[in-house]
Amino acid sequence: MKHLKGIVVKSTGSWYHVKTHESAIIECRTVGKLKLDDKKLTNPIAVGDEVDFEMESDEGGNKGIIKHISPRRNYVVRQSPRKKHQLHLLASNIDQALLIVTMREPNLKLGFIDRFLIMTEPYSIPVIIVFNKFDLYSDDEISQYSILNELYTKIGHRVLHTSTLTLEGIDLLSKLLKDKTTMVAGQSGVGKSTLVNCIEPDLNLKTEEISDFSGKGQHTTTFAQMYDLSGGGSIIDTPGIKSLSFTHLEIMDVAHNFREFFKISEKCRFSNCTHRNEPGCAIIKAVNDGEINYLRYQSYLSLIAEVEDQNYWERHGDV
Ligand code: GDP
Ligand code: ZN
Repeated sequence: MKHLKGIVVKSTGSWYHVKTHESAIIECRTVGKLKLDDKKLTNPIAVGDEVDFEMESDEGGNKGIIKHISPRRNYVVRQSPRKKHQLHLLASNIDQALLIVTMREPNLKLGFIDRFLIMTEPYSIPVIIVFNKFDLYSDDEISQYSILNELYTKIGHRVLHTSTLTLEGIDLLSKLLKDKTTMVAGQSGVGKSTLVNCIEPDLNLKTEEISDFSGKGQHTTTFAQMYDLSGGGSIIDTPGIKSLSFTHLEIMDVAHNFREFFKISEKCRFSNCTHRNEPGCAIIKAVNDGEINYLRYQSYLSLIAEVEDQNYWERHGDV
């Protein structure tokens, strides 16, 4: 039996589109049990996975069966929006993530960026944060954007602003994507499809306008999909995010994934310090000294409160 290799470029739940080195796309499925390191995953195979497969011998043989997944260099998981005890693989083997946000339409929720960064931080995946729809921002929103730009640049992320109307920032963004594999994410309506189409017009990602009663554009992507960029590199488009929960984590997981907290926390008096009100907490001191940004600290507190509530209910039954 001939063994073939390829990269998963699309997954629809039960079928996977695998691209071979010769750029052929073969529809593959899995049979029986693949060896999985984590049973809590809703999807065993992610877009970006390198797989070995065999062609099915019967029925003319134009479909394949995945036999093996190569060890992942990194991956991004989110808590499944439907099943809170399960995790969903968004993408694997990526060089960087692109998070698209906007100050308005829809308004940026405080803390949303911090929640996203919890997903990329375990593998220290570099993140580019793009503030799109810059043409719409009021003076106040521009000031707020500047504050956030400074905050995230200071902790080592790349921040820029774009507009698909004026095309400001588009060239810079294209350069940042060149020759890299980039996972692209954002809340529905931030302009992700429009932005990707600006960079790569031939992709023609669907951007359906106003179709539901709320007046929000209805999102049409439901599965992650990888596309090649004509200038080199590729993007993995992921479904629009509604909200991100992290109740599968423990408090210490959250603390460790706030990168600028981690180093300073060595100086906390207690090794299991949660940085809330413990005496001798180096994080609280750093917030008071302005070394850690107050907004980041607020996000941290609200995340650990959520995690703690969840853990409480799990120990005391009911949910
Ligand atoms: P997605 O859900 O993130 O893929 O968002 P879409 O690409 O479908 O865009 C949602 C809406 O925002 C559409 O009406 C776009 O025309 C609009 N939009 C996208 N980018 C910009 C921008 O830079 N400026 C303005 N004013 N509107 C934009
Ligand atoms: Zn502390």
